[in-house]
Amino acid sequence: MNAVQPLKLSGVALPRDAERMLEEICEHFVEHADVQRSKNHALLKSKNGTASFRLADSKLLIELACESEVALQLNRTMIAEHLFYFAGEDPFELTWSEHSPLAALPNIHEVTVVSSEDVTPHMRRVKFACADVSPFAGGDMHVRLLVPPKGRPPVWPGIRKDGRVAWPEGDDEILVRIYTIRAVDIERRELWIDFLQHPVPHVATPGADFARDVLPGEKVALLGPGGGGLPVARSILLVGDESALPAIARIAAEVTPGTRMQAIIEVLDEAEEQPLPSAGSLDVRWLHRNSYPAGAKGILAEEAKKAVASVDDETFVWVACEKADVRSIRAFLKSRGRDKKKMYVAWYWEQHSA
Ligand SMILES: Cc1cc2nc3c(=O)[nH]c(=O)nc-3n(C[C@H](O)[C@H](O)[C@H](O)COP(=O)(O)OP(=O)(O)OC[C@H]3O[C@@H](n4cnc5c(N)ncnc54)[C@H](O)[C@@H]3O)c2cc1C
Repeated sequence: MNAVQPLKLSGVALPRDAERMLEEICEHFVEHADVQRSKNHALLKSKNGTASFRLADSKLLIELACESEVALQLNRTMIAEHLFYFAGEDPFELTWSEHSPLAALPNIHEVTVVSSEDVTPHMRRVKFACADVSPFAGGDMHVRLLVPPKGRPPVWPGIRKDGRVAWPEGDDEILVRIYTIRAVDIERRELWIDFLQHPVPHVATPGADFARDVLPGEKVALLGPGGGGLPVARSILLVGDESALPAIARIAAEVTPGTRMQAIIEVLDEAEEQPLPSAGSLDVRWLHRNSYPAGAKGILAEEAKKAVASVDDETFVWVACEKADVRSIRAFLKSRGRDKKKMYVAWYWEQHSA
């Protein structure tokens, strides 16, 4: 039998400091792919294909190989978005051997609002009808929610020549926020997203407000899924606040039977606790922010560190919460020499000082 020949695409990146960018690529992707590194070369292998980065004359020569056109284009966009992000304010050029043959982003799904309801006083669930829910079952859990301006026919994003997403501009600009698919209802062809209602005095919260005000029949789009899947391990430590509660609930619901989990979840008060059914065993400790002493900071991070210190090296450590807490927990994990392949540590929102 003939093996499937992968589809290939090459690119050239011109960063200000190519060596540093190669370091950043390895550092970042180690949590998402198998990274093989030699002095001037890095090879990233994941279920979506391979990406090779070779240092040559202050350039990075890129080779992507995937088994389908869709995977190839998605990888190109993902790599392009990351490289521009790593470049920051520095001048940066990225060119590819050929343009995308696809007219639109292959992972954009137009969905229709079916209903919305309060799960707890501050968590609002919106259910969306989606023609094909299969890409959302298992695998990656997160999406970018795209909300078009009210009263205008939506213009969804396309692909730029450099591989990045071409976002609509001006009157067609869309609201973009990241959320977790809380559940996939395959029979009804529905996707659920739980939106924390986090009113911040005098500050707009467009993502939360969308969920508060949305009506059945409204059309939005979901870009993804991507950005981290269900951890697979016999034992998992879950740490998060309300923004991570939908992901924690989904992990608990979808782990293989027999998985042992402990979770530390910070919410406002007892009314924000949710039942977390699971085929595994789950021991949850809820922290109530309303009961903390005035001015207390970093309590979730400190509790997370104590829990990390008490679990064995095989336990998968899954953490998602506010940026400062994540930084502090990440530093602690590093200081203990934890294997990066056995952790997912991501900040889901950032506290802005008033
Ligand atoms: C991978 C990933 C998955 C996520 N999944 C979910 C999810 O399933 N459900 C969910 O509700 N959120 C989730 N989030 C977090 C969500 O994207 C952010 O909270 C986002 O900022 C909300 O957008 P907004 O328009 O409501 O507020 P923004 O316009 O982004 O922020 C407005 C103000 O609200 C504050 N703020 C933002 N988020 C919070 C918060 N969580 N608590 C308190 N104050 C906040 C900001 O500091 C700012 O002052 C996820 C984030 C990531 C990266």
